[in-house]
Amino acid sequence: MKNPTKAWWATASPEGLRLHQDALLKRFLQTRAVPFTKFYRNMFSANGIDPRDIRSTDDLVKLPFTSKADFENPRDFVIIPDEAAVKKEWRTLFRAITTGPANAKAALEQELRPILLTSTTGRSSAPVPFLYTAHDIARLTEGGRRLMQLCQSDVANRHVNAFPFAPHLAFWQAHYAGTGHNTFMLSTGGGKTVGTDGNIRIIDKIDPDAIIAMPTFLYHLLQEGKASGSRWKNLKRLVLGGEKVPAGMRRKLKELCAEMGANGVFIMSTYGFTEAKIAFTECLPTNGEQPSGFHIYPDMCFIEIIDPETGQRVPDGTPGEIVLTHLDSRGTIVLRYRTGDLIEKGLTREPCPHCGRTCPRLLGKISRVSDFKNLAIDKLKGTLVDFNKLENILDDTEGLGAWQVELRKRNDDPLECDIVLVHAVVMKGDEESLREAIHGRFLSATEFAPNEIRFHSWDEMRKMQGVGKELKEKKVIDRRENPKP
Ligand SMILES: [Zn+2]
Repeated sequence: MKNPTKAWWATASPEGLRLHQDALLKRFLQTRAVPFTKFYRNMFSANGIDPRDIRSTDDLVKLPFTSKADFENPRDFVIIPDEAAVKKEWRTLFRAITTGPANAKAALEQELRPILLTSTTGRSSAPVPFLYTAHDIARLTEGGRRLMQLCQSDVANRHVNAFPFAPHLAFWQAHYAGTGHNTFMLSTGGGKTVGTDGNIRIIDKIDPDAIIAMPTFLYHLLQEGKASGSRWKNLKRLVLGGEKVPAGMRRKLKELCAEMGANGVFIMSTYGFTEAKIAFTECLPTNGEQPSGFHIYPDMCFIEIIDPETGQRVPDGTPGEIVLTHLDSRGTIVLRYRTGDLIEKGLTREPCPHCGRTCPRLLGKISRVSDFKNLAIDKLKGTLVDFNKLENILDDTEGLGAWQVELRKRNDDPLECDIVLVHAVVMKGDEESLREAIHGRFLSATEFAPNEIRFHSWDEMRKMQGVGKELKEKKVIDRRENPKP
């Protein structure tokens, strides 16, 4: 196994990383991305840009952004090589001369033939497929190995992957993390396949050191496990993905683990999305108020932060929207992809205060603007509402176990004014004091109070949120246009 402290991506100087990324980008654009994807070939020619004009990651600002709306035809983003041209590449010729034409052909197929597909969840739009070749799976495996190292997981540890069986990055990243780290990884398929009880029985039996899952589902699992008398004393890590993890959730998970006999559990959060084809993680220690930020693999992608209004790049340490460019992917690729995710404290190139690695890191909370962008929220009672802030406030409300915000029209009449319902599950205390707490927090953060706060059981809330069935729990429901249930 490679020593993580010696890996160049973790130790290189900012200048060293920059030069390396420039070299990767130039090769990627000139030999793969521009000649062999229809979308980028067209984009470069329509804008009069020669791929050789992009000499560095700084030059990327010459390129237009790519966004979800561009994926009308996902095939246009796939590297589909012109066989004759690829055969003439010096690397292929060299391989053919030294190892024979059959080996040269096999190497090209490894690099370029799509063999795996993941897809976006398609909550607000049609799902977009992303293809992986063996080259990409090697990267996914290496990314997974790094994830395990950043989490300081011992190879002798036992891991449970409780992401739903689905063609989604989260599941495959966790699976290949086990492969890459050469460690035991059992995938339960989450709640959909064997149910909560099945997951609990598996965890009872395996007695894992680490569980990798979506936070809301994991929270549910721990609660149910505790209620059924399970003691998961061996737990050392909870690795969370699929949705962002508010501070309140970390605290709640840690408390539950302690109640089940596991003290000193570290909670790590990951950040990944379909288009990145990789997930990034925090390193240890991440408990308390100072998470390390997500460590970015600079040999796999280039991350820039932009002002979402102007599209201009912002300096390090400045909040903005996360934009990603692949540096060495095959199958489906993106350049300057606008994630719609806002990072609270921007990007830093300072060495990590916890582990000393020098790779770039994303700092602070991530708000998924896409969750809220379709909500004409400023109309709510004439008040401009920052829903991301609201989300954080609800997540961190003491005693609130789970929640969902529902927007409706009064009497379901489209011409009527908006009303806001908060659905809540009590975790600690009684309904009345929680109602008061939510009311008060709403008022102080948004200057209006919800029209109604309804309490539910955990079971009801899980059904409402689609826990274990959807990759992302439904935290906000907008029924203003399609009033139903
Ligand atoms: Zn670190």
